[in-house]
Amino acid sequence: TNPVFTGIETTVFETMSRLAKAHNAVNLGQGFPDVDGPDDIREVAARTLMDGPNQYPPMLGLPDLREAVAESNRRFYGLEIDAQSEVLVTSGATEALADCIMALVSPGDEVVLVEPLYDCYLPLVRRAGGIPVRVRVSPPEWQLDTQKLRAAFSERTKAILINNPMNPTAKVFSAAELQCIADLCREFDAYAICDEVYEHLVFDGAAHRPLMALDGMRERTVRIGSAGKTFSLTGWKVGYVTGPARLIDPVAKAHQWVTFTTPPNLQQAVAYGLRKDDSYYQDLARDLEAKRDRMARGLQALGFSVLPCSATYFLTCGFEELGLGDNDVDVCEVLVKQAGVAAVPVSAFYGADAPTGYIRFCFCKKDWVIDEALARLSAFL
Ligand code: PMP
Ligand code: GLN
Repeated sequence: TNPVFTGIETTVFETMSRLAKAHNAVNLGQGFPDVDGPDDIREVAARTLMDGPNQYPPMLGLPDLREAVAESNRRFYGLEIDAQSEVLVTSGATEALADCIMALVSPGDEVVLVEPLYDCYLPLVRRAGGIPVRVRVSPPEWQLDTQKLRAAFSERTKAILINNPMNPTAKVFSAAELQCIADLCREFDAYAICDEVYEHLVFDGAAHRPLMALDGMRERTVRIGSAGKTFSLTGWKVGYVTGPARLIDPVAKAHQWVTFTTPPNLQQAVAYGLRKDDSYYQDLARDLEAKRDRMARGLQALGFSVLPCSATYFLTCGFEELGLGDNDVDVCEVLVKQAGVAAVPVSAFYGADAPTGYIRFCFCKKDWVIDEALARLSAFL
């Protein structure tokens, strides 16, 4: 007999990063900033590392960080969260997703997913014995068809897993779309697992609105955040889940068997970071917005058709005009090997029958790195 995960491909992010390294390419594939987050946050981590304690923190997370997560929910969204019973600290949003799915999805349960989807969703739902029910959104607006969404719900639906703001589409769900999701969750008594790691990377003056803040959703939603994204420290892998105690309790049971806890100095530093004043968060979004525009202008000038981007640090583009063929995987291979620029094929974000006409570029890079990538693409095309 075979182990369950044989035959599963290595994640596209790792594959593209390896190729980027091997070909000395500018890596605009895997999503990570090329400047580390704030010095003062890293100083708190360094100081706490040296002063200690460096022993197991409480299983739910350092009380100070849980408090900071609750404060942040109040400050940005007006959500009242009890730090003692309604916050769980995890080793990144990835662990949080695994914990939530393990805790809330039983074999045979249907889980509604919006496709394209972040690459760990399908394997995790399937490994939990869940049955994924995919609802596809399409470019350029990636709008959710409310009829299709309704058709995906049934009495077998246990949960919807949504990513808002959404990777790789850079979409922010509209108020009407969120309302529709909330109505269906209530009607079918389903949970919502909300991956909101890009909550603070929303552009053009818009503000993130958590599904949890809608009427009737507070008691059925678990909301996942990531310090990696909010503080440009993706390697730290510090995440947090907020939700009602009746859901956080089983999710914490899963967490205790997966990692149990997360490095204490990083937790302390993230608690400090979350309390930064509003200008930190505004500057983060504004800075990224300028990079988005810089890269979008450059790609457009080269002949890519750049899709709208309201959030995250990704631009998705069509490449029809470029004469590189019509297969995103092949195009990414040619670009990384011959142009020296790594991107990610958007088909990697689909379960089956993926469209192949789009690739994703990550723009949270220094301006000169963006310019260098554009120059390489220009020289190649
Ligand atoms: N969800 C989405 C949509 C992501 O894009 C990512 C990674 N960038 C994660 C979860 C994982 O976050 P973390 O690094 O905190 O595990
Ligand atoms: N979320 C990042 C991306 O979309 C990748 C994270 C990872 O490599 N696991 O690029």
